[in-house]
Amino acid sequence: MKYRLLSPGPTPVPERVLTAMANPIWHHRTPAFETTFARCRDGLKWLFQTQQEVLTLSCSGTGAFEAAYCSLFSPGETVLCVAGGKFGERWANMAKALGLNAVVVPCEWGDAVDVQRVKDALDQHPDAKAVTVCASETSTGVRHPYEQIAKLVKGKDDCLMIVDAITALGVWDIAPERDGIDVLVTGSQKALMLPPGLAFTSLSDKAWARNAKAKLPRYYFDLAKEKKNQLQNQTAYTPAVSLVEGLLESLKLMHEEGLAGMFARHQRLAAATRAGAQALGLALFAKAPADSVTSVLQPASIKPDAVYKGLMNRANLTIAGGQDAVKGKIFRVAHLGYYDELDIITVLGAIEIVLRQEGYTAFTPGAGVGAASEILKDGFVAKKA
Ligand SMILES: *Cc1c(COP(=O)(O)O)cnc(C)c1O
Repeated sequence: MKYRLLSPGPTPVPERVLTAMANPIWHHRTPAFETTFARCRDGLKWLFQTQQEVLTLSCSGTGAFEAAYCSLFSPGETVLCVAGGKFGERWANMAKALGLNAVVVPCEWGDAVDVQRVKDALDQHPDAKAVTVCASETSTGVRHPYEQIAKLVKGKDDCLMIVDAITALGVWDIAPERDGIDVLVTGSQKALMLPPGLAFTSLSDKAWARNAKAKLPRYYFDLAKEKKNQLQNQTAYTPAVSLVEGLLESLKLMHEEGLAGMFARHQRLAAATRAGAQALGLALFAKAPADSVTSVLQPASIKPDAVYKGLMNRANLTIAGGQDAVKGKIFRVAHLGYYDELDIITVLGAIEIVLRQEGYTAFTPGAGVGAASEILKDGFVAKKA
């Protein structure tokens, strides 16, 4: 069987991007590399909808988060971290590991954070230097109300709004200056349709002002040093050259579709996936679902992880299972990046087969695919000339 990747990261890489990355590796200290990098810088500003520099780092998304912490804070400073999932919790654990005072803002897995809880935490910790939140919490499929939280943070001098947009940027309309985001982080292997290995971050003027006085130790992940170099179309250290080649091509692909087209497609695929799952009698896990990934509660009657494992072992198709607190209990179907209508039809059809094989028959065969195709038909239009 063909291998099919429908996970929320890594996501599938378009053929055009793969081909671009197959070119011979250029030396990076050359005008040719600088030309490519300059185009990527322009493309990233367009994608991030920002006037600020978007820094490219050779690491996964987690590395960019560490770079932000190390470059912006001093030992012992307080950061408020919204929990509610594996990634939200990761930013609290990372802050602790780096010697920051991480205060966890609690949130049940599957819920969007209650903004009042963030407000209370800010009131209790007037010295807080940042709030961190995942725009899209990939482990639960939830969209957190980061715009509302940003409004609380905006009025506070010297407190930064840090948003993990690793599965949000490129999926829906998120723009740091407009939305009050001081630090935006994303990675290559999600909506950007690249292999793993690059991460990107943009910082507001307020964040750069913090950088000037931040004292946490740093060497490789030094955002000021990177900015100085990248303004000259260079990187401080050897970049992942082939991924930068791929980035230029993926930015071209995104530009061809346009931001509005990308956002509408993600919205359509997400709506169809949710409708398809519900038509099978399954419940969505996320109370406020993000358009990047749909998390679905497994029927209680089947074995833990039966859907995820059945697809993997019998259909050669990778979606995602549950992690940590919801391991075995949910499965997650991704639709961010290089996904189209037929991917959703395929995965829902495969889920129907696996569910029946597992003995869950509380639906008419084709019900999920049928519900989804009602929504997906809007995407079946001839290309503009
Ligand atoms: C994938 C992901 C990350 C982790 O990024 P790595 O690239 O694995 O370091 C962080 N946050 C969210 C929301 C993610 O989806």
